[in-house]
Amino acid sequence: MSGEPENLRLRDRLLGLDPVLDHLSRARAQNRLAQSYLFLGPRGSGKTRLALAFAQELFCGTVASPCGCCVPCRQVAHLTHPDLHLVVPATREETESPDRMAALLAAYAADPYHPPFGGAGESIGIDRVRALKEEAAKAPVAGTRRVIVLVGVDRMTEQAAQAALKLVEEPPPETLLVLAAGDATDILPTLVSRCQRVRVPPLGRERLHRVLVDEFQIPGEDAYLLAALSGGSLGQALELRGLDVRGLRDRVRAAFDFPPDSAATPAEVERRVRALERAWTGDAARIGCELLLAWLRDCVAARAGLEAADLANPDLIDEARRVGRALVPTEIGRRIRVVEAMAAALDRNCNPTLALHAALWRTAGGSGSEEGFFRP
Ligand SMILES: [Zn+2]
Repeated sequence: MSGEPENLRLRDRLLGLDPVLDHLSRARAQNRLAQSYLFLGPRGSGKTRLALAFAQELFCGTVASPCGCCVPCRQVAHLTHPDLHLVVPATREETESPDRMAALLAAYAADPYHPPFGGAGESIGIDRVRALKEEAAKAPVAGTRRVIVLVGVDRMTEQAAQAALKLVEEPPPETLLVLAAGDATDILPTLVSRCQRVRVPPLGRERLHRVLVDEFQIPGEDAYLLAALSGGSLGQALELRGLDVRGLRDRVRAAFDFPPDSAATPAEVERRVRALERAWTGDAARIGCELLLAWLRDCVAARAGLEAADLANPDLIDEARRVGRALVPTEIGRRIRVVEAMAAALDRNCNPTLALHAALWRTAGGSGSEEGFFRP
């Protein structure tokens, strides 16, 4: 290590979110900060990074706020500041083990571009919000201010959401609350209405493409696919980086490639399930659904005459045109709904193989309603 202190200035890691932080900084300078904020933006758009960068500004002990070097700045970056509380969705196993929870947060602190929270099976339960309320009832430890960041309020249980609402309705003194969620429609309306909303937009495809190439040294063609498949969300793109996305995409496409009016036999569906099921677990299954949806939408777009640059999979333009011509739009729409139902089933922790089986059977034209088939 050199003698230079490591720069832990989170503001320098925003990659395009600076205008949002500037907006909050101005409100603070003008003494008109709200007590509760609701950051809204797609998964992986940087809501947690932004909230922590803002916390660093609030806690920094220097006039050059945030300096990124003083003790409070370092504590915020390492998630060890005694008056900063970060609550993120986690699996039941993580929630029940303090060590695993600490490891989860340490991994996040060590990597500012850590994959986004809120994967399959992750949520925030009532116990964690209760513990937070107890903690918040005490006076701040280090100074006069406390910051609570609750990530994934759209992943809260009903009871936890009610408890969070109480926290927002009767906020502890000197406490700034930052809630973060993908979409306001999945949150208690009363919770939404009591917070000041802040949009955290995805970077967008072109910008993200440049960021992936320049900052993360991802080869151009891969970066293009990642940018397109992630809807311009940096976190989602980085999450895909470690996977063989092209390989997974092509295997999922092959499994779900049925001709119009196909009358696939149960044995054929079973064969396709077996071909895919080993790869069809956890995050890979969820990402597989996204890849499949992106592909089906590309078929619609190609049929409508859009060019390669407008597709999520520009390298597959000819194939997308062929499939787009072969299937009528209502059939592609039906297949999209089947895959969406499978994604929702995975989100509810359904068995991935069963969900895959049901989706393949429905795509192949098997009977059963799209909704009922996935009911656990
Ligand atoms: Zn500082």
